[in-house]
Amino acid sequence: MTDLEIHQQLQKALDGFKDPETGRPLSKTGQVTDWVVADGHGKCTLRLTSMIRTIETEVVQRLESYLHSQVPGLKSIEIRVDDFDRPAQPLGTIGLTAKAVIAVAAGKGGVGKSTLAAAIALTLEKLGAKVGLMDADIYGPSVPHMLGLEGRPQIADSKIQPIRSGTMPVMSMGFLIERDQAVAWRGPMLNGSITQFLRDTAWGDLDFLIIDMPPGTGDVAITLSQLIPLTGAVIVCTPQEVALLDAGKAISMFEKTKIPILGIVENMSGFTDPETGKTFDIFGRGGARQKADQIAAPFLGEIPIQMVVRSQADEGKLAQALKDPTISKPFEDVCRALVRAITARIATDPLAKISLPVLG
Ligand code: ADP
Repeated sequence: MTDLEIHQQLQKALDGFKDPETGRPLSKTGQVTDWVVADGHGKCTLRLTSMIRTIETEVVQRLESYLHSQVPGLKSIEIRVDDFDRPAQPLGTIGLTAKAVIAVAAGKGGVGKSTLAAAIALTLEKLGAKVGLMDADIYGPSVPHMLGLEGRPQIADSKIQPIRSGTMPVMSMGFLIERDQAVAWRGPMLNGSITQFLRDTAWGDLDFLIIDMPPGTGDVAITLSQLIPLTGAVIVCTPQEVALLDAGKAISMFEKTKIPILGIVENMSGFTDPETGKTFDIFGRGGARQKADQIAAPFLGEIPIQMVVRSQADEGKLAQALKDPTISKPFEDVCRALVRAITARIATDPLAKISLPVLG
């Protein structure tokens, strides 16, 4: 086979490989450029949005093996990755520009929901995405404390300016009221503040808005789902039976409000003694995976009990703790599984494409 034939076949093959973000064939989106084929060896540039760069290694590997399977004469393929700009579109009628809005929820307090919400947001940003973090846990806004953030958001250009953790915009009721005042908030005030956080905050152009949900009640979920098309919910639970029963409540609440479950994360899943390397399943293990199977939702992974996570989060240094690769690895795995779950929805559910630009 000549190099020209290989080149033509490679380009043709792109009809059958979809951009994970839009579900459209790469041949139509102009994301593969700079083709060179010499002596049967190919080279190209794959341009990915910041949302999909979070899973770029697996997308590149998938494209590589796909091209080999489609073009038998190809001896090797070298795929370079570069940026592709495709800004998010305004969601609903409130003007939030984000590609995916993800509610992080749990059936009860103390399972690590806020820790997970903050860690998922920080990790997605580290993997290359544009991320905002909204603390809607009105009764116990712990995100500012965990990230060591303080100060009052200012108003500029008629927008609330979020407080930033590094570059990531964060909004929380914790910036606006004293902690012990939070419990006095009820119904309409709560809904009003959620609406304001979403609509009036200068979030900028986001790939992901991560929302730390209050435990238990469905009020906030209902308010959110009326304001914007939520991409879905991540349910956090610990492995014990009782926590799983509570997770079941959270799951049925989302099902009632027609918010898809993107997956379940098992937190505090085992403890490895740093001295001996021995692992103890303190709260049991594997329950969340079974629950996920039961409801046919993706299992997004296990986060072990890590003492550094607790101590650093309590000191406002969660972001610093996540700089250590041994600490951040399980969170990265969860984030990649989450992006995979989102893209799988995009590929199978036309409604999930709502937040994406209409392409020609
Ligand atoms: P929730 O939001 O579900 O009420 P938090 O995120 O506030 O729970 O976490 C409760 C406590 O557990 C915090 O002290 C937090 O630092 C700690 N924690 C959460 N996840 C882990 C983990 N994987 N390893 C160690 N400590 C954790």
